[in-house]
Amino acid sequence: MGQSNRVLALAAPLLAMTAAASLSLELGWGLLHYIELPLVVSVLLAIAALDLAIWFQHLISHKVPLFWRFHRVHHADRDLDASSALRFHPIEIAASSLYKLVLVFLLGPSVIAVILFEVVLNASAMFNHANLALPRWLDRILRTILVTPDMHRVHHSVHSHEHDTNFGFCLSLWDRIFGTYTSEPQDGHIDMKIGLSDQQDATTDSLSWSLKYPVK
Ligand SMILES: [Zn+2]
Ligand SMILES: [Zn+2]
Repeated sequence: MGQSNRVLALAAPLLAMTAAASLSLELGWGLLHYIELPLVVSVLLAIAALDLAIWFQHLISHKVPLFWRFHRVHHADRDLDASSALRFHPIEIAASSLYKLVLVFLLGPSVIAVILFEVVLNASAMFNHANLALPRWLDRILRTILVTPDMHRVHHSVHSHEHDTNFGFCLSLWDRIFGTYTSEPQDGHIDMKIGLSDQQDATTDSLSWSLKYPVK
């Protein structure tokens, strides 16, 4: 992807989300417009609620066979690094953008909350896919609140009982609350296999491979 395409790919959803947030205010749509809260509280609440909604979307994309066809493109990656954070099928990206716009109209977050949420979500995706080995003590501290690279790596295991857990992107809370939390991979972080057990293709990097993969 060229530099300008990359900027556009990040900026377009953000612009759509901020436009939706100001339109929802104008129309009086969305729960948060009806609750009196200090700005900081309403911004934090909106970010947490949107993160929960993204957790739920991720869970559904594993459970509904049609959605899984598209989402497994992300799981076909056998080397996790920050670029994996961007590797999703275009149809899944479009569907997820649409879902987020609907959420904005239902929830009514402020424009600032929407901007912060997009920044937090993108930063979290880069962080939790990064090929990082954080010291155990640091991972433990961060993991009380955030999804760490070690926690998300379990989600990319070839073992289905592991990749059907740890759906969170930013807050680690949701997996703990809903009983989908796995703390460590059974084979250990060094020896565990990343990817899909039924995926044999050697090259999974090209866009044309990704585009065709859902119908394989
Ligand atoms: Zn997944
Ligand atoms: Zn991932």
